Amino acid sequence: MRQSLLFTKTRKESPKDEVSKNADLLIRAGFIHKEMAGVYDYLPLGLRVLKKIEQVIREEMNEIGGQEIEMASLQDPEIWKKADKWDDEKVDVWFKTKLKNDTELGLAFSHEEVIAEMLKGHIVSYKDLPRAIYQFQTKFRNELRAKSGIMRGREFIMKDMYSFSRSKEELYKFYEKAKLAYAKVFDRVGLGEHTYVTAASGGVFGEKSHEFQTLSEAGEDTIYLDEQTGEAINQEIYTDEKIEEAGLQKDKLVEKKSIEVGNIFPIEDLVAKKIDFMFTNENGKQSPVYMGSYGIGLGRVMGTIAEVLSDDKGLVWPTEIAPFHVHLVRLGEEEQVISVADEYYELLKTHGIEVLYDDRDVRPGEKFNDSDLIGIPMRLVVSAKAVSAGEYELIDRQSGKTMGVTESALTDEIRSSLTKKRLI
Ligand code: ATP
Ligand code: MG
Repeated sequence: MRQSLLFTKTRKESPKDEVSKNADLLIRAGFIHKEMAGVYDYLPLGLRVLKKIEQVIREEMNEIGGQEIEMASLQDPEIWKKADKWDDEKVDVWFKTKLKNDTELGLAFSHEEVIAEMLKGHIVSYKDLPRAIYQFQTKFRNELRAKSGIMRGREFIMKDMYSFSRSKEELYKFYEKAKLAYAKVFDRVGLGEHTYVTAASGGVFGEKSHEFQTLSEAGEDTIYLDEQTGEAINQEIYTDEKIEEAGLQKDKLVEKKSIEVGNIFPIEDLVAKKIDFMFTNENGKQSPVYMGSYGIGLGRVMGTIAEVLSDDKGLVWPTEIAPFHVHLVRLGEEEQVISVADEYYELLKTHGIEVLYDDRDVRPGEKFNDSDLIGIPMRLVVSAKAVSAGEYELIDRQSGKTMGVTESALTDEIRSSLTKKRLI
């Protein structure tokens, strides 16, 4: 993409009404726009990142047998009443609305009971199980505080997956697979080394859950982490009994602030029993479907990456989810420089490399500042000096390391760094 055509602008000043670092950086770099507290738009650069995160998650969910669907955001209160969750006392984040005739509707905050109700017509026999079904879908939550930028939206896209099994054993077998798939997702998006599986409470669905917590001072959670084993427990269940149950030793745990990037929990037969979601088992008897629930917030993940991996110059995107692979920065308006830069732009694209081409007629300092702020992993500088020397600077955004590459080696050098990560 030519940067001269990009409608978004970077800005130097921080937005006045934003206290979170992720929103500050993402707004200044032109990735997102704030409509109001907890409500954000994704602009071209931001949408590319969001879609790449989505694709990583999709691949890992498909890998463990997930089938993708998309459910509606408007929900029938009857289903939630049956589950005893329509009441605002029971679920404190409801957004509700009304039809013209005053009939109430809910705006989806989650889908456990709704998907179970839908599947009654499809899952009837033990032959129909196990299954895992997921979606990327807009959730609405009337969050009391929305001060963490895109990490806590009042409207946000969640990947929610639900598993359906014949028995407790079958459920927990899948649950462990899902846990590994989640770990892979966080590795691939670049959060792996900062993210820990954490024992947590199960909320409304029972005793336990596992959260994926990324260490960060911007986090709203507190966890107790054994730095040697990488195992952790959430403060909300930090009791002697639960610590022991989680197989942890209290004196080895250190307190850390963290961000909940993902949450999985076994529902077992709780929902099935409540709403009568049964299947005919091998012996011809009616048996409840064992469920599990697996969530990740896409904006939460993107915001966390902005919080944790950025530096004082701006955003730093891991290659797999970066808006582009290469930022081609042209310095100068001489005919020859333009023609060489244009040529590289086309050449890199034909190799499947995603390029943001800064073809604007602005000062070098402004170009470099913008490039640092936007945070594309590799920067290629085409200047009059480089053209006459036949050697180009390739700069790694994260380390700042600069490499001189000759014309003939350039595409190979960029390609090899991407093929190593299996991105092209
Ligand atoms: P929190 O404790 O942060 O409010 P939660 O435990 O209520 O989150 P879950 O119902 O577990 O959230 O949702 C699954 C995942 O969805 C979370 O792990 C998180 O990644 C994401 N998520 C939850 N709430 C939000 C939100 N308001 N904005 C963006 N992502 C969210
Ligand atoms: Mg949670």
